[in-house]
Amino acid sequence: MAAAVRRVRDLARRHSARFARAIPLIASENLLSPYAKELLISDLHSRYAEGVPGDRYYEGNEQVDEIENLTLDLARRLFRCSFADVRPISGTVANLAVLKALAEPAAPVGTCRLADGAHISSAAFGAFGLRGVRPVYYAWDDARLTVDVPRTRAILRDARPQLCLFGLSLFLFPLPIDELRSTLEEIGAVGWYDGAHVLGLIAGGEFQDPLREGCQVLSASTHKTLPGPQHGILLAETGDAEALGRLRSAAFPGVTSNHHLHAMAALAVSLAEHLEFGGAYARQTVANARALAAALHERGFDVLGADLGFTRSHTVAVRVTGEGGGAEVARRLADAGIITNKNLLPGDKSPKHPGGIRLGTPEVTRVGMAEREMGAIAELFDDLLHRGRPAEEVRERAAELKAGFATLRYCFGAGEAAYRYYDLVGREPG
Ligand SMILES: *Cc1c(COP(=O)(O)O)cnc(C)c1O
Repeated sequence: MAAAVRRVRDLARRHSARFARAIPLIASENLLSPYAKELLISDLHSRYAEGVPGDRYYEGNEQVDEIENLTLDLARRLFRCSFADVRPISGTVANLAVLKALAEPAAPVGTCRLADGAHISSAAFGAFGLRGVRPVYYAWDDARLTVDVPRTRAILRDARPQLCLFGLSLFLFPLPIDELRSTLEEIGAVGWYDGAHVLGLIAGGEFQDPLREGCQVLSASTHKTLPGPQHGILLAETGDAEALGRLRSAAFPGVTSNHHLHAMAALAVSLAEHLEFGGAYARQTVANARALAAALHERGFDVLGADLGFTRSHTVAVRVTGEGGGAEVARRLADAGIITNKNLLPGDKSPKHPGGIRLGTPEVTRVGMAEREMGAIAELFDDLLHRGRPAEEVRERAAELKAGFATLRYCFGAGEAAYRYYDLVGREPG
């Protein structure tokens, strides 16, 4: 079986080397800082700590308790709120906790449609279906690429959901929570924001601030625009102590047993780093998205939101029906070293044939790219998809561009290799 071990290590090394040469533009991906990464392979990985600090089911948790309290402090500081729970092990798990705490099976819950950018959490085959809640869909404004306020007000008054989710996976523009706040109050609904994609932008002050605009609960992943470990988080600002108790018990024992202590410790590092570097990082991430969108638009690509400044987040959406459709274009780009994903866009006729691709700037920003490099990336798109330049040539040019951006920025230990494979043993098995 040593061969299997060698094989996995070899594949993981090749994976790292491939990404070191690529232009990764997946909007939900990011890179971990060296100090955060180190904790993922610490002894914390081997331990259990069910419960809350000071009230555990196992012995040996004294240091874990301090780490958890520190993580909670940092989370409450970064998001300026009085409640945090860092036990959900992913964004989806955090969403399940909110649904368990704040909605009964069969209850109506407000959300956006998948075609308008909502995450699969809102789908019958996702978290909504698991809890058995009934989606009440907001109306979408195709011109403003966000929720349509007047039509949504009428829908909410009619269906009266007691929980209203705001959040997207194709998240170009802020959602109008502030405008809908009075309607939420009128029907007595809790505002719930899923900030998985935009968490790092919210913390960096570069996107809307949901806990100040009318949402009481914020759930998220911690590894998208917040460059942390794969994990989840719950944040809240409400005077409803009973609801907070239900959120806590939904996190544990509701949707987790152990909460991945190594990831929690890494999260503490990432939160501390974001307090220090998050403002500058979020600013450059959004500036890069806008620059990439404008550069693609100049080269004849059908970028969504052209009359709205393209985007106010880290994400860019491009309709590529003229270039062969989302699936084919994403595959051809990957062949040329540019990693993206096909994506349904508002107005797409069939969910099986996404008309677009989704691009994101979190990772290229993390390694130090700025507006000038966004122009160079748009040039690669143009070469491949409009000028018929062969994939191998574009791949070579992508690798040349990337070679100047091989290290991490916006963290302690900046300058460390961004795609390093940690060989702890120093030799092959067998
Ligand atoms: C990515 C995402 C999630 C879930 O994230 P995981 O951490 O992968 O479970 C939830 N909601 C939204 C809006 C997302 O984009």
